[in-house]
Amino acid sequence: MPKSLDDATKKQLAARVNFYREMGIYDFYRRPVEEGALAIAASSRASEDDIVPVTPGSGRSLFDSSLPVIQDKPAALKIIREDLGDCTRCRLHKGRMNLVFGVGNVNADIMFVGEGPGADEDAQGEPFVGRAGQLLNNMISAMGLKREDVYIANVVKCRPPSNRTPEKDECDTCSPFLMRQIDVIRPKVIVALGAVAAKNLLAMNDSMANLRGRWYDFRDSKLLVTYHPAYLLRDPRQKKEAWKDLQLVMKYLGLKAPAKAPGE
Ligand code: URA
Repeated sequence: MPKSLDDATKKQLAARVNFYREMGIYDFYRRPVEEGALAIAASSRASEDDIVPVTPGSGRSLFDSSLPVIQDKPAALKIIREDLGDCTRCRLHKGRMNLVFGVGNVNADIMFVGEGPGADEDAQGEPFVGRAGQLLNNMISAMGLKREDVYIANVVKCRPPSNRTPEKDECDTCSPFLMRQIDVIRPKVIVALGAVAAKNLLAMNDSMANLRGRWYDFRDSKLLVTYHPAYLLRDPRQKKEAWKDLQLVMKYLGLKAPAKAPGE
C-alpha cells in the first residue's frame, strides 16, 4: 500500500466511498492488501455479496470498472426507501398523503424520470397513474414494451401543493435519493420527462428545444430528454416530436415497434 495516494486516486477513492454511502453502506474497515492492490471491504447494512468484490491480489484495480454493480437490487432499493423513511427533509412532506418512491422492473433498460407526483400519484403512492400516466403507458406500449418492463420515478417524491413546479431546494433535497435509485437500477437509458427532470438531472438550465434531440452521458447511462406527458396532453401536436425522441431510444436499444393490429 503506498504511503500516500496521488490526487487522482484520492479523488476516485472519495467518489467510491461516497457511492457506497449513497447505497447505505456507512462502515468501512481496512484490511492488509498485497502490494499494488487496493480494497475496500464493506460491512454493516449491505452484505459484501451485494457488491462484486475486488479481491486483493486479483490484479484488478479497485477502479477498473466505473461503479460497482449492485447484485441484490431489491435489497438496495429497500435500503434507499428505508433511508427516506417518513421523510420531513423539505416542506413538501406537509401536504403529502403518500411518498411516491418509484416503481417498475429493477433490471429495466429504460428508466423514465418525471417531475413529481400529482393528486392521483399522491393518493396511490405510485408515479404516473393519472392522465399523464395513461399517456406515458401508451408511449411505453408504442415502444413495444409494458409498464412493468421499465422503471419510473420522479425528481421529487412528494406532491407539490396545487401541483406547482417543485422548487430548487426541494429538488436538491430529494434528488440524491433519485441518484441512488439510478445507480441501483443502472438503466441503459434514462428518459427525462420534461424540463424539471431534464434540468435537475443534467444540471443545465436550457430550453426544452435545446435539451431535446440528443444523447447525454449520465452516470453509467445514456440520457435523453423528451416532453412531459402532461405537456403532450395540453399540446398534442408535440406528440410526433416526442415519438421521434422515443424512436431514438428504440434504435439505441434495438427495440422494434409492435405491428399495428388491423383497424388501429
Ligand atoms: N407527473 C409527474 O411528473 N410525475 C408523476 O408521477 C405524475 C405526473
